[in-house]
Amino acid sequence: FDVIQKLGVDKIAVNEGSTHIVIDKDYVGEQELQKVIKACPAALYDEDEFGSVRFDFAGCLECGTCRVLCGKTIVKQWNYPESSFGVEFRYG
Ligand code: SF4
Repeated sequence: FDVIQKLGVDKIAVNEGSTHIVIDKDYVGEQELQKVIKACPAALYDEDEFGSVRFDFAGCLECGTCRVLCGKTIVKQWNYPESSFGVEFRYG
């Protein structure tokens, strides 16, 4: 099993109406952005053609890494998803 296959085993209930992580979409800072792009285990962070952060919360594993790394820059708010939403880990 590689990481991608393992992630595919998990189930995620996405709350389409509300993101549990709010990022600063205007943030431009190469060093911080590269850190979080490399560190997010679900590869949810990316950089657009203008050097701004691109983020998709739907596959979040709720590990908190982005909050610890970039909680004062890119990540403006970090909360766990509301009850009944979020990741369900399966170790199959
Ligand atoms: Fe990625 Fe973890 Fe942040 Fe979710 S909490 S976006 S999985 S680094």
